Amino acid sequence: MIVLKSASELDVMDRANRVVHRALKAVADAAVPGVSTAELDSLAEELIRAEGGEPAFKGYRGFPATLCTSINDEIVHGIPSPRIRLEDGDILSVDCGVVLDGFFGDAAVSFGVGHVNGEAERLMNVTKRCLDDAVAQVGPGKRLGDIGAAVQSHAEASGFGVVREFVGHGIGRALHEEPQVPNYGQAGRGQILKPGLVVAIEPMITAGSWRVKIDDDGWTARTEDGKLAAHFEFSVAVTSDGHRVLGLEE
Ligand code: MG
Ligand code: MG
Repeated sequence: MIVLKSASELDVMDRANRVVHRALKAVADAAVPGVSTAELDSLAEELIRAEGGEPAFKGYRGFPATLCTSINDEIVHGIPSPRIRLEDGDILSVDCGVVLDGFFGDAAVSFGVGHVNGEAERLMNVTKRCLDDAVAQVGPGKRLGDIGAAVQSHAEASGFGVVREFVGHGIGRALHEEPQVPNYGQAGRGQILKPGLVVAIEPMITAGSWRVKIDDDGWTARTEDGKLAAHFEFSVAVTSDGHRVLGLEE
């Protein structure tokens, strides 16, 4: 069932996502060579709680942390650890969820640690552009396939792969609501987007094959061929005249 949100509910979701984006900014600022992903996780958790929210991922299906921290060939769902320290040239994808006043926020960014090579930089830029192109498709009367097609066409035209195993999702009083939002598809196909729908759009793009393998920890998803991956995510509301990216500071 798809749950549409009222204007006042969207305002709460905007606040939840503001906390997410503040946490992501703090983590990006602190992510220098030598810092552990567990230290980044603690920083995010303290900021979220100080803002009156709660980490949404901690305890979700047993996930042990506030952030997913995925380095280099890790695509999503990497688990922060005091044993994992960032190195110069890494690319780090950070995914963060917050629940605030009963509603969820969910967003992710990828960035370089220290100095990254040109191919890594291009992968991150293309992935962010895939997200921006997808967001530009969101509006009343558009379709889910318009979102997926926007991601897929830019990623594949750039020579990169689109992960199939994981998809975006509706979001609201639950972290994962209907509909699923694939990063591939055909324009003009799929469900029609209605005002009040909120979707987390989250392209996961790879420098090689889109095939995925899961580590023995049961969470960490990495590229099967060991090539780099990047991940960006916004929570986006369909409005009567277009869309609203939730949580971005004006
Ligand atoms: Mg997320
Ligand atoms: Mg998500």
